[in-house]
Parts: sequence; C-alpha cells; structure tokens
Amino acid sequence: MPANEAVPPLDPPPPWLGRHIAALAAAHRAGRLPAALLIHEAPGAGGDWLARRAAQLALCADDMAAPCGSCTACRRVAAFQHPDLMWVSPAEDSRQIRIEQVRDLAAELALTSHGGGYKVGVITPADTLNRFAANALLKTLEEPPSRTLLMLVASQPSRLPPTVLSRCQRLRVSPPARGEALSWLAAVRGAGDWNAVLDVLGEAPMLAAQADPAEVAEISTDTRRTLEALADAGTDPVAAAEHWARSQLPLRLMCFENWLTERIRRGERAGAFITELRAAPYLPGRGAFLNIRELYGLLDEVRELRAILDLPLNRSLALEALFRRLAPAEQSRSGVRHG
Ligand SMILES: [Zn+2]
Repeated sequence: MPANEAVPPLDPPPPWLGRHIAALAAAHRAGRLPAALLIHEAPGAGGDWLARRAAQLALCADDMAAPCGSCTACRRVAAFQHPDLMWVSPAEDSRQIRIEQVRDLAAELALTSHGGGYKVGVITPADTLNRFAANALLKTLEEPPSRTLLMLVASQPSRLPPTVLSRCQRLRVSPPARGEALSWLAAVRGAGDWNAVLDVLGEAPMLAAQADPAEVAEISTDTRRTLEALADAGTDPVAAAEHWARSQLPLRLMCFENWLTERIRRGERAGAFITELRAAPYLPGRGAFLNIRELYGLLDEVRELRAILDLPLNRSLALEALFRRLAPAEQSRSGVRHG
C-alpha cells in the first residue's frame, strides 16, 4: 500500500497513458513483457497509475482482455490487496527505500505466485532507493525469476546507478497536453477551475487530482500578496515566515517558485537584465529590486527547501532567510545592491 492514502482512481483511464497500456498489453499477449520496466515519469504525470494498471495486466484472470479491470485479480490490484503484488515505497518516517525493504521484495518475488501466474513488484519512487538498496536490487535484475514483472517508477532516474538503469526497459511518460489533463480531471473530480490548479502545480494532473481547487486559489492569492508586500518592505518577514511554516507550506513554495519564474520572464521580456548585466551589481532603484542572479539563486533555494521539507528543520527560520533577501531595505543594508 502506498504511503499516500489519496490515490487517483484507475477509472476512467487518463488518455495520455492509454497508449502505454495498449503497448504493454500487446507485448504481454506476444509473451514479450519485460522482466524489469523503468517508468520514467514527468512529476505528477501518472507513473504510479501506470504501474498499477500494468500490474492488473500481468495478474488479470482474462488473458485476452487483460487488464479487464473487473475480475477479482484486477479489483484486488486496484485496492492494493493482491497477494502477488508487492508495492514498495519509503516508510512513513523515512525519505529513502531501505535495503531491508528490497531484500523482502526479492525474497517475495522468488516465491511461487499465489495465483499460479505472475509476481509483480513496484518500487516507487525508485529514485529514493538508497545506494545499498539499489545494489541489493541488482541481483534480482540480473537474474529475474521467471514470470516476474518488476517496475521502477522514477521522475529522476539519473539518481539510480547505471547498473540498475541498464537492466530495465525504459518507458517514458511525458506530461499530458493541458486539454487532456483538464478533461480527465473533470471526469474524476467533477467541475472546478482545474486550469488554475494546473497553473499553480504545473502539468501534474495526478497531483491536481488530490487538490482542492478553492484552496489552491486561496493559497495562491495569499502567497502572491505576501511576496509582493515583502518585496516592497511592506510586511514583517518573521510573521510571514511563521504563517507560511504553519499552513500549506509545500503548496506555498510552489507558488513562490511560480512567482520568481514570472519575474525572471518579465525581466527578460522587458530587457531589464541586459542593462543589469552591464552595470551589475548596481541596479536601478525600487521596482527592479532583484537582479537576475538573485532571482535564479532564490529559485534554486526555494526548490531545495521544497525537496527537504520532510527533514527535521526549522521551517520558519529557513523561510525568514529567503524573505529577507526579498526586502529592499535588507538588501541595501547588506550591501547587495545600491538604490
Ligand atoms: Zn482482470
């Protein structure tokens, strides 16, 4: 069972994943299903969904119509309750998949299947396998038991050792076109301003499917207002940091990233950075408060903070440090720029 309880439904199928399932089903009918599959997904594009559907394909009772979606095996897979499906994710108190988990998986895959057919293992996100766990996986990849389907779902497969990657057939899941994502979201979640949600979250419909559009809109507006105020030295960075740390921080950091990206784009369009490159680090007065290097630097740090949020860290202090770099008074005091 995945750590995240809110799992997008298997039906209706996302249209952008349909061709992948069709290709896998054809390979399965021809007896050419690979033993190891690396599902390289764009974040939020549906790697886990595809792995679950492929598990149905391998375990379905109806060989010709697999994955039928309605037989007992398919329904058990959908509920993560099939005895021949092993789903491996980081334990709740961890950011990594540990070696013991991989050893358990390998031992389970080596046993005869309960249903007399395939055994399926899913490792997700596989880019959280630590070094020892990835090495432990190698043996299974080198000599997979027959009728095994092992799937690694990763959005950053470059974090995996080349020895692991070279033993997997790669399947690339690209982000869907906006229109496809919107129609699928309307079908699984009903009416809502999904376009605005995707504007905030990026082309990540699986993430959007777990979001509340009204809440995303509210946080997005509130976050933007705070950032503009901070940039104008019109609000207290300490209070703002404490507020963010307490409420919807991952979402707020995404909004922060979007806000910085917009500024970079706007500056590029206006040609503001060209003068700035020549005159750096001396910038025109208020309004062009951050130079492009600062903006990119901040963007990196916001991303970094988002990536380590589940580590024990003082979120308020980390945010406050970022916020202080937005405030013009702080910058001139620290000598970064001159008004
Ligand atoms: Zn079935």
